Amino acid sequence: MKLGELGEFGFINRIANRITRTDGVVIGIGDDAGALTPTPGCLTLVTSDMLVEGVHFDLSLCDAWTLGRKSLAVNLSDIAAMGGRPRHFLLSLAIPAALPVEFLDRFIAGMLERAGEFDVALIGGDTCSSRDGLVISVTAMGEQQPGKIVRRGGAAPGDLILVTGSLGDAALGLELLRRGEREGESVTRHLDPVPRVHEGLALAEAGLPTAMIDVSDGLLADLGHILEQSGAGARLQLAQLPLSPSFRRTASAFTHDPFIFPLAGGEDYELLFTVPPAREAAVNEVLRGSGLRVSVIGEITRDSGLTVLDANGRSYPVTARGYNHFPSP
Ligand code: ADP
Ligand code: MG
Repeated sequence: MKLGELGEFGFINRIANRITRTDGVVIGIGDDAGALTPTPGCLTLVTSDMLVEGVHFDLSLCDAWTLGRKSLAVNLSDIAAMGGRPRHFLLSLAIPAALPVEFLDRFIAGMLERAGEFDVALIGGDTCSSRDGLVISVTAMGEQQPGKIVRRGGAAPGDLILVTGSLGDAALGLELLRRGEREGESVTRHLDPVPRVHEGLALAEAGLPTAMIDVSDGLLADLGHILEQSGAGARLQLAQLPLSPSFRRTASAFTHDPFIFPLAGGEDYELLFTVPPAREAAVNEVLRGSGLRVSVIGEITRDSGLTVLDANGRSYPVTARGYNHFPSP
């Protein structure tokens, strides 16, 4: 079926009919604006992320279902990085007229599945046609008490730098996809990232991180944001970067320097955060139940600048920092 047969409002109804979650929603899809009940004492966290065909995804390399899951996941990851509890989201789509309705159905189903996993409700959005590719824009809203929100700017000299899970898998997965691979751990990490919502929330509730960010553009780029906003520098230990077993098995086949993936690859959607050394044990305690490893990968320094040391304590030359949509010519 083509969208032309269904029409804009037929399509919106199709989405509205599938919504089961309505927590905190007073007015959902169907009016000029939605209305939400805030939790008393909480601030609303709002974030928006756009996924553009040909820039962020390639329809020949992904399926509709996982694209729906990922489009929401990358937004939930930003709420997680503030230590917030995601609650609601808006979905705006610019759709090429030729895109089959079946594709959109699977996309919405995947997105609502992810939404159910993290207890977030779709409350509205916008739909229009696109002359070129598919454009997906999600705006997520979450909540947290003002004193518990974790920002990028709070890292202090002496703080340890920690990261959840493993780094580099998603970038390796993209490389594998481009070479014709369609499954495996790294490919899944790229196509269907898991936002670290429970972990970000648990850390914030315990008041542990001094600064936090999610790794979307690459470790060096995202750590760079923490350093810039905290007015500090950092020393990273290459040997302590968390690399998954599948990454270790595969990465060296692609490049003479596999560290480029965890340092500059991006799209890991792990949480990168800083804590004073005395809180390291509490971090392990808080994240023990998550089944996710957490690794100390360096420390914040008084001197500005970012130094990366290899296993022998020698300075590692940083060649690429991460993804930049508008690189200098
Ligand atoms: P308006 O023209 O007043 O902006 P729309 O026709 O764009 O209203 O939207 C009608 C209703 O459908 C609104 O409640 C809006 O939030 C919802 N809506 C539109 N597109 C989407 C979408 N892609 N996903 C979820 N809700 C949507
Ligand atoms: Mg509108």
